[in-house]
Amino acid sequence: MTFNNIETLKEALKDLIGKKSYETWFQSLDIEMTEQDSWTIWTPNLFYKQRVEQQFKIPIKEVSKALSCEIDIHVNQKNHLSKNVPSKTEEASEQPFQKKKTTSTDEPQSVSSSKSLFKYSFDNFIVGPNNQLAHAIALAVSTNPGQTYNPFFLYSPVGLGKTHIMQAIAMSIQKHNPEYKIKYLSTEQFTNELIASIQNKTIEQFRTKYRTMDVLLLDDIQFLEGKERTQEEFFHTFNQLYNENKQIILSSDRSPTDIPRLEDRLISRFEWGIKADIEAPDFETRVAILQKKSENTQARISPDILQYIASNFTSNIRELEGALLKVLALSQFQSTEISLDTVQQHFQPQKKAPTVHLTPDRIQNIICEHFNISIEDLNSSKRKRMIVIPRQIAMYLCRELTAYSFPEIGAFFGGKDHTTIMHAHEKLKKSYQTDQELKITIDKLIEKIRG
Ligand code: ADP
Ligand code: MG
Repeated sequence: MTFNNIETLKEALKDLIGKKSYETWFQSLDIEMTEQDSWTIWTPNLFYKQRVEQQFKIPIKEVSKALSCEIDIHVNQKNHLSKNVPSKTEEASEQPFQKKKTTSTDEPQSVSSSKSLFKYSFDNFIVGPNNQLAHAIALAVSTNPGQTYNPFFLYSPVGLGKTHIMQAIAMSIQKHNPEYKIKYLSTEQFTNELIASIQNKTIEQFRTKYRTMDVLLLDDIQFLEGKERTQEEFFHTFNQLYNENKQIILSSDRSPTDIPRLEDRLISRFEWGIKADIEAPDFETRVAILQKKSENTQARISPDILQYIASNFTSNIRELEGALLKVLALSQFQSTEISLDTVQQHFQPQKKAPTVHLTPDRIQNIICEHFNISIEDLNSSKRKRMIVIPRQIAMYLCRELTAYSFPEIGAFFGGKDHTTIMHAHEKLKKSYQTDQELKITIDKLIEKIRG
């Protein structure tokens, strides 16, 4: 299945997106094989990259599937670009997120090449009370891989820095031990590679490859759920690496025991080492993250704007960054420094207004009344659907309508873990956008609660 002919890739892309789009967007870009089955498309700046990602996400995915390769899009720091990119974006190349350094590139996926491709390092990771323990363990693991904490199991809801920390570990280990075989990959990639190796009868190579790593970092292992063959394979890989004191680092969106349909023998192994979770960052940490992220841009964003963003995007750092990116994009079209007013206007519809006098008690009572269930049931751990749904709605609304933190809300629900509240919030937030019926119910409830 392996191919290393760049023309094959270009042709496939051209076929899928059409000649005209190809010529406009890809013709002038450098495409390079960065390692076996792994290609990088170099774009001149972040805007170009985002544009290409947004517009051609699906065809690029299709090509990557069809040719069994990974295709990453990176910003080229070294003027990799040859010629004639659309002129609008050339102007933009002076703009946000152009890093001062010329060595690093954007959004890496894999570490096995000697060229380090990591954006996520310890240097640009902000440590706060929410991630202190995870960070400390990550540093210890980087200094003594395989010696201190093995396996290292990192968990948190989405967008709180697991991948960042894992890649920072990988980069740091590689820097200090260039001879090490280090592999960072997502559980999905691991599964896909396993399936391909079964199809191609190359399972022995697959096994050898992973069982001889010095450091293996497997991201988002909640996706092992229900995948029996992958679990089996990973179990043996784990054992071999563990027995040879090779470092194993795993991440998941929840604790191992909370992953359904994960074999007990795997759960118990994941518990052998050390676990650390990451919580949502507090206000100060969020501001610090925004400061760090805006450091390398040429746009000047005033502290009050950063604080405004930080107070409105609270539970997911990716969203926080998304908001900053929007502000950077807005400021691009202004000749003067962007004002807080402009930013506020832009975000108004999404802005949350925590209402102080609303308490979780009030919310819980109204929900129970509406769904005709008891407070005891609401705060219990019963898994019946007729209770779970109101409970999740109540948790979601507590977060949306009050200023309480996830752990604090957890306490109102019979002492539930903050991750439970976060999950419910994340889930309902999505459903609110996609499920019309639910949206109507929730809107009605909000009206009632606000009184
Ligand atoms: P996860 O893997 O948990 O879903 P990511 O590692 O992808 O989350 O993080 C989402 C984004 O937030 C990334 O761009 C990452 O750089 C950023 N981020 C998360 N935590 C921090 C932090 N403590 N300091 C700086 N950036 C962070
Ligand atoms: Mg991740």
